[in-house]
Amino acid sequence: MTRQVKPLETIEPGHLRFYSCGPTVYSYTHIGNFRTFLTADLVIRTAEALGMRVTYVSNITDVGHLTQDDVADAGGEDKMARALQSKEGEAFNNVWELAEYYEDAFREDWARLNLREPQVRPRATQHMREQIVAAGQLIEQGNAYETPSGVYFNVESFPSYGKLSGNTQDNLRKAVREVVLDDNKREQADFALWKKDDKHLMQWYSPFGWGFPGWHLECSVMARKYLGDTLDLHAGGEDLIFPHHECEIAQSESLTGKTFSNHWIHTRFLQVNGEKMSKSLGNFYTVRYLLEKGADPLAIRYALIAGVYTKPLNFTDQSLSDAMGNIERFKRSDAAVTSALEAGCEGEDSIGTALDELYEQALDAMTNDLNTSIALAKALEGTRVILREADLLSLASAESGKRYLDRINDLLGIVRHDRALDCKEIAPVAPKVDEARIESLISDRATAKKEKNFTLADQIRKDLDAEGIELRDTPEGTVWVVKTSL
Ligand SMILES: [Zn+2]
Repeated sequence: MTRQVKPLETIEPGHLRFYSCGPTVYSYTHIGNFRTFLTADLVIRTAEALGMRVTYVSNITDVGHLTQDDVADAGGEDKMARALQSKEGEAFNNVWELAEYYEDAFREDWARLNLREPQVRPRATQHMREQIVAAGQLIEQGNAYETPSGVYFNVESFPSYGKLSGNTQDNLRKAVREVVLDDNKREQADFALWKKDDKHLMQWYSPFGWGFPGWHLECSVMARKYLGDTLDLHAGGEDLIFPHHECEIAQSESLTGKTFSNHWIHTRFLQVNGEKMSKSLGNFYTVRYLLEKGADPLAIRYALIAGVYTKPLNFTDQSLSDAMGNIERFKRSDAAVTSALEAGCEGEDSIGTALDELYEQALDAMTNDLNTSIALAKALEGTRVILREADLLSLASAESGKRYLDRINDLLGIVRHDRALDCKEIAPVAPKVDEARIESLISDRATAKKEKNFTLADQIRKDLDAEGIELRDTPEGTVWVVKTSL
């Protein structure tokens, strides 16, 4: 809000009330999203290392997030509904099933990357009553109004609109984002609290008719329900500053008359191999994609937190393999300490003082606006101290080594998983493929070849290849494999 780093002062001393915007579960969550969730994770770990209690809420968006919400209010289609109509969506009976599938997948990836569980993970679809009540109250207070297409927040009724993003009402008119032209809107900058749509796949009854809530409203009501009128800290990716967080502030502060969040933290973008992640460039990395390629989940975590959150991060094949090497050092240190604890050799503690100092330096770096690059360097230095004496560690040194690795793991989550992963989470990640469909395409291709329609046969092969399925013609017939190169 102030464009400055400020001390994080909590309303209740020693208790951090923290909200971080969660994913929209219409697809697998990519590593750019996870970079943002990892910033939140590091906030919690650092606060806990300082002895604070944290109440952490992170939502699941399962309705209302539209394809053009970032650039044009209430524009485009609902992401959930569109996903159901896509090719991947054919695997699901309905939009609820699709949401459940991708939420489960998201939670598995969350555990694999060793993120702390929030105390509450509220879903938008389970807080419909609260959203309808909030929209009604905003109408009553004169902050919102109803039109034939929905309920809109009247931006003019909230004079400090734009205070987070700098997109004040005047600036907005200069096309900071295109807003949907709706003749019934009072100001084109007004944004939707409720969309009327009795054809929508997910709809609820409200005093304003059948429809569904706006994406921004869910975060306002769920943050308030679980954390109170004023939060200590609110997090998200930098792409959420505007319009999402700006709209959350306008709604919440109009409803309560109080400051919505005392502090804000936004994570900068992630690039992959120097480019913006996109499906068309083939660098749209999901956690499970990288696991399929043999990456260690903790190394993915390491690579994603290696750069400070205040700067864009370039995730490369090199940064991932460097991270694999570093994670290996932590694992070797952990193993050396464990076997020295079992061996129980006499001798003095020759490493405790050095390790305590390194831990304090790592913690210091984290309390300074989450400086992960210094913290990780200090943490690695500790592994050097342990591994230098690996085979000679006395019991006393091993105890210091264990304390160090435990504390580094609590702070950064890079030594081992905090909790044992369950079967689903450790299961080898297999790509979701529709085998019946592939087999039927292979038989179409064989028929095409027999009929000398080589153009069609080749097209089928190319189409499957583009989906990551490679066809191999063998003496026993055509077989298919999932391609494995990065
Ligand atoms: Zn949000």
